[in-house]
Amino acid sequence: MVALIEHDRGVAPDTSFQALTFARSVAEQLGTAVEAVIIGEEAQPLATEAASRGAIKTWLVRHPELTDYGPEAWGDAMAQVTTASGAAAVVAVGTDRGNEVLAHAAAIDDLPFAANVVGVEVAAGPWALERVRWGGSLLERSTLDAPVKVLSVPPHAVPAAEPGNGELGTVEDFAPELDDQAARTRIVERVPAAAGSSLAGAAVVVSGGRGVGSAEGFAALEELAGLLGGAVGCSRVVTNNGWRPHSDQVGQTGKRIAPELYIACGISGAIQHWVGMMAAKRVLAINIDRDAPMVTKADYAVIGDLHTILPAVVSEVRRRKEGATVGGDG
Ligand code: FAD
Repeated sequence: MVALIEHDRGVAPDTSFQALTFARSVAEQLGTAVEAVIIGEEAQPLATEAASRGAIKTWLVRHPELTDYGPEAWGDAMAQVTTASGAAAVVAVGTDRGNEVLAHAAAIDDLPFAANVVGVEVAAGPWALERVRWGGSLLERSTLDAPVKVLSVPPHAVPAAEPGNGELGTVEDFAPELDDQAARTRIVERVPAAAGSSLAGAAVVVSGGRGVGSAEGFAALEELAGLLGGAVGCSRVVTNNGWRPHSDQVGQTGKRIAPELYIACGISGAIQHWVGMMAAKRVLAINIDRDAPMVTKADYAVIGDLHTILPAVVSEVRRRKEGATVGGDG
């Protein structure tokens, strides 16, 4: 059983270790252990963390073409290391990258690929799977019959095992054979994101929908996000209208996030939006419609015009912050 530890230049998100935890639960059913796969030499330090989270062994895949992310090269390398490991199954987190790598690996080995798997029952023949479908609106029960099972698990479907201080796993170098074709798609330039907290990792997300009314209307959301140390998100209507860039979109065709607090301002809560933020620990809806799905599903709701409510919230947060500063130690 192998699990890909997705990373970007050596930095692995928590979701990679969620995939490792999920793979471990499947490995236990198989009566075997889980092994991690780390692609690219610079990510070598992640082997220690993978071991502390349950990987008995880490395959460190090294090749000159693997210095940065490339879907074909990573997929080819993943296929080769899976074969070398003799694993019965391979798991990655179902992010854009995780799914892309597994899709390439599965195609190379002519295997079926099951994405968004949240449950597995191992059997001698086909395995029984439970998969999230249609943007999270239904659970599918299916079977997978393949010599090697290729599975992705959606981000935040399972919590990652906490790092322990148990025994360290072993590390095995693996040098795949990659030709020029494998590296035809590669990163040639990186443009730093605009300043501010990143949507993916923000603890607080202040998100706006059609109810915000205009690009300029997002100034109040920016202000509140800034005060709370958070990031701004939005619905698809907003990106369709050109009020915000697509990188801010939350949902089925946007980002899937799991902040501590999601403040939904003028967002109705369509299922395609909900799947992007349903992992939030707390949801606060601000909406004029008390029957909007976002309101009925939220932990807290304020019914009213966001153009009145947001300035009031901003001024109250500001007042309390200033009070805390003035009151501070004195
Ligand atoms: P609306 O549904 O129009 O809701 C606006 C809300 O604002 C209403 O609840 C209204 O009561 C409230 N409101 C209006 N004025 C005010 C005010 N002054 N103060 C307070 N509240 C106010 N959507 C996404 O968001 N993300 C996705 O990734 C996504 N992917 C999709 C993929 C597919 C294949 C499809 C078919 C759709 C997808 N959608 C996605 C679109 C989705 O179905 C909804 O159309 C969209 O989420 C609605 O956006 P909204 O809530 O901003 O707008």
